[in-house]
Amino acid sequence: MELFRLTIHELRDLIRKGEVSPVEVVKSYLGRVAAVEGRVQAFNVVTGQEALRAAERYRAIQVKGGPLPALAGIPLAVKDVICTQGVPTTCSSRMLERFVPPYSATVMDRLTAAGAVVLGKTNMDEFAMGSSTENSAFKTTRNPWDLACVPGGSSGGSAAAVAADMCAGALGTDTGGSIRQPGGFCGIAALKPTYGRVSRYGLVAFASSLDQIGPMTKDVRDAAILLGTIAGHDPADSTSADVPVPDYERALTGDLRGLKIGMPAEYFIAGMEPEVDAAVRDAVTTLEGLGAARVEVGLPHTEYAVAAYYLVATAEASSNLGRYDGVRYGYRTPKSEHLIDMYMKSRDEGFGPEVKRRIMLGTYALSAGYYDAYYLKALKVRTLIRRDFTQAFERCDVLVTPTSPTAAFRIGERTGDPLQIYLTDVFTSSANLAGVPGISVNCGFTATGLPIGLQILGKPFDEATILKAAHAYEQATPWGTRRPTL
Ligand code: GLN
Repeated sequence: MELFRLTIHELRDLIRKGEVSPVEVVKSYLGRVAAVEGRVQAFNVVTGQEALRAAERYRAIQVKGGPLPALAGIPLAVKDVICTQGVPTTCSSRMLERFVPPYSATVMDRLTAAGAVVLGKTNMDEFAMGSSTENSAFKTTRNPWDLACVPGGSSGGSAAAVAADMCAGALGTDTGGSIRQPGGFCGIAALKPTYGRVSRYGLVAFASSLDQIGPMTKDVRDAAILLGTIAGHDPADSTSADVPVPDYERALTGDLRGLKIGMPAEYFIAGMEPEVDAAVRDAVTTLEGLGAARVEVGLPHTEYAVAAYYLVATAEASSNLGRYDGVRYGYRTPKSEHLIDMYMKSRDEGFGPEVKRRIMLGTYALSAGYYDAYYLKALKVRTLIRRDFTQAFERCDVLVTPTSPTAAFRIGERTGDPLQIYLTDVFTSSANLAGVPGISVNCGFTATGLPIGLQILGKPFDEATILKAAHAYEQATPWGTRRPTL
């Protein structure tokens, strides 16, 4: 048996029963990384020695028959925007290339307390700005289903690592779609929690009112397990909500009777790939076959979501990225004439082109004279989008949409046209503006063999229902069991 093929829950059960040791599991994954990482390029750093040492500690407990924590020895990959004490956290940026955080994010503390071991940090679009990982300062990650295609982004390294079986599961972050879109492109389960569900303490901020950390996994049960581990109130993040965390695994009943699923007409638009449209409609039929009832709903302000998102996100980014001044964090230019020159050169040399574009857009949107016309107007649109969801959820329990209008595109195909890349987010950014949770699961393949993502959106703090729907769908279809050949 190739252990690296297994899911978190399968490995957990084998380790618990003493049938495999955490060391065997970690070695199997490290072997897989050695075999395929050269082609996929998912990791910025692999922390194999540390992972093995942690696994050995758990093996010792296992041998003694002592109690093991729930995820003892489960190897996870972590997006390189989440702080890991003593391990570089670069955000795939020259600016933070040598940054080693002196503390860990709350999500890392929770995973470590649960026994998980970190296999490495994954590549991403610089500071999580992008949809393809092509904005990484270091390298472009490849889609394991077709190495000529992007894995999506910005959590592309995490998505590719999971799809290629280089880790048992991973963490990503989602500001406008960065968990769900690469999840869809790589054919895995990928969940953005409700805003406030998971602590952002120790997450390098992009757009603080939109960012969330979430699980990216081989199946929906694993997403439920990881979400349950990282969710919950954290005094260190005042925006984390003090809302009880249910047992998400228990929610996976397979029973969808009485569930009302809304299909928003605005998400089935011209310009969508016909194969995507057909796969998502088929998925709705499957859900109906499982007992769900379909209702028509409208989200009338959807067409303004991308514009509002790119104003709010860039405005917040321009403020958050002000801290990279060459003094307190990260890169400092080696040669400068005076203080202002040092600031300017450090930022010019440390940031890549997309990050600079965002800082300029955001600064403009917030500047005197334009604030009302751009930023304030975007906030008003955000309120309307939020209201759309509140009204839709009066009529249904979940919304079902495509994750993205197309499957993965080819590397280099869209790099010359930022607007084309921004439009990739049409179906994902509304959920961030409204703060609602969403999951992407695989719902089929294009004729060329690329995965297609199905997005299921839920009511605030009702991740349990989207997990239940996604799990029942996954169990009823063959898609989740296919793996790329590498
Ligand atoms: N693609 C979007 C952007 O570039 C979303 C990124 C994200 O969710 N981090 O901003």
